[in-house]
Amino acid sequence: MYLIYGRKHPQIVLDSYIFNVQRTSGTKSRWRCKRSVRSLGSCKAFLVISGKWVHASESHNHPCEDLSLKIAIPQSIMLKRVE
Ligand SMILES: [Zn+2]
Repeated sequence: MYLIYGRKHPQIVLDSYIFNVQRTSGTKSRWRCKRSVRSLGSCKAFLVISGKWVHASESHNHPCEDLSLKIAIPQSIMLKRVE
């Protein structure tokens, strides 16, 4: 998993999918696939991050992004897949 400090908001890259932060509260945060907006396909995939744990849904409705990780910062996390 990688973190990108974007111009406006941070983004997370997991398995070459990009997530935008949706909301945070305390040590928990929820991230939505960047293609969750209707104009990009209304993808329903999301991540929930709690401390070092990441709960990832696996239901993208599109292929992964073609992206460069040059500006991404690797994160050490524990990944847990959820349906
Ligand atoms: Zn997606």
